[in-house]
Amino acid sequence: MNKIESPPQAGDPRLTIAQASCADDYDPNSMPVAKARAFIHQFLKPVTGVLRVPVRSALGRVLAKDIHSPVNVPSHRNSAMDGWAMRGADLSPIDEVTLQEVGVSFAGKPFTGNVGPRQCVRIMTGGVVPEGADTVVMQERSHASGKSITFAAGQKTGQNVREAGEDLKAGSLALAKGRIVRPAELGLIASLGIGEVAVYRPLRVAFFSTGDELKSVGTALGEGEIYDSNRYTILGMLARLGCEPLDMGVVRDDPKLLEEAFAAAAANADVVITSGGVSVGEADFVKTMLGKLGEVVFWKIAMKPGRPLAYGKIGGAHFFGLPGNPVSVMVTFYQFVRDALLVLMGAHPVDSVPTFRATCTTRLKKAPGRTEFQRGVLTRDDDGSLSVRPTGEQGSGILKSMSDANCFIILGDATGNVEPGTSVEVQLLEGVV
Ligand code: AMP
Ligand code: MG
Repeated sequence: MNKIESPPQAGDPRLTIAQASCADDYDPNSMPVAKARAFIHQFLKPVTGVLRVPVRSALGRVLAKDIHSPVNVPSHRNSAMDGWAMRGADLSPIDEVTLQEVGVSFAGKPFTGNVGPRQCVRIMTGGVVPEGADTVVMQERSHASGKSITFAAGQKTGQNVREAGEDLKAGSLALAKGRIVRPAELGLIASLGIGEVAVYRPLRVAFFSTGDELKSVGTALGEGEIYDSNRYTILGMLARLGCEPLDMGVVRDDPKLLEEAFAAAAANADVVITSGGVSVGEADFVKTMLGKLGEVVFWKIAMKPGRPLAYGKIGGAHFFGLPGNPVSVMVTFYQFVRDALLVLMGAHPVDSVPTFRATCTTRLKKAPGRTEFQRGVLTRDDDGSLSVRPTGEQGSGILKSMSDANCFIILGDATGNVEPGTSVEVQLLEGVV
């Protein structure tokens, strides 16, 4: 357990989990979002296991070692344009100049001779700039008459030439450990001729749903029963992050079964995520039981949706007890669990999903005192400006509000009702890459 030895100060987020559950400053009944996040982050230690995988299998994984470039990129001096290569000294700033073409240098098929005075070589983009030449004139500024090529005035020595090692020098840092491999990194690694990379082992995340009313898909519903949807959203969110999910099904609200499930999950995974069972009335026996198994704090976060949230350690595993309501599950996952999992996966730095501002076109009801994450639809207007409106009913059980949304509208603690035309903070649900 990551206990912090120095005595806690007022306002100091460095408390142990046990201390936090009774410290006044950590009022479990109105925990600000940012403070809960900061508290959780002090306990996160990245995985250390490393595996080597082929580059093709590295997408979404986290680099476990720095990658230094074994080569110069580009590996040779080459042309940035289609045109002719020559000595810059042969060109004139004020007059046209005519030079003799003595060969061609295409990408992959270099000209092996030397470019002498008053000579030039036909060159294509990516072609090796031959010995003797130091300048390329683009073909749009040139005129060919047989092998006599005339170049317009006003050229500069060195133009349109990409130097060897200009992008990356051999031996320099190409990618730092902690980098999440995206399509650009796959290409960059391949461009260095590297076929295998060291990545952190996947983070194992066990999850289960709690509730006597829950049935799994494929079984008939009895009176008052509902289908368990949270395990599906959680599975999806974990898969998107690149975690290794361990689906432990539905567990009834029975202390003995729950205790077994928590113990098994913590023994088999780095992280345990549950949904349901942490709201008032339900939390008490879970609290007692988790108190036996580990150290857990139960908060009422000053947010909507997603008020109840539990965080702690069960043995070596981190535990996130998310609320039961389907929208609350997603909101709390994105606002607390996502970044924490990325840290545990070894990602560094972990940037929260950026927010920006858009004009809200609809009146929003909001009471000051907590942060709201309304589900919104962001659109670009004809003039290029961004507008946002809520998806409709914002109940924490209405999963369709997440499905219809492409962003969160984040209304801070102090914000009250929002009038149409007001600028609000939004956070996109989809990234570009
Ligand atoms: P709880 O936090 O357990 O009190 O649950 C709050 C609400 O979310 C209740 O209406 C539950 O029926 C519902 N709920 C809890 N777990 C799930 C689940 N896995 N799938 C769908 N709804 C759920
Ligand atoms: Mg429940």
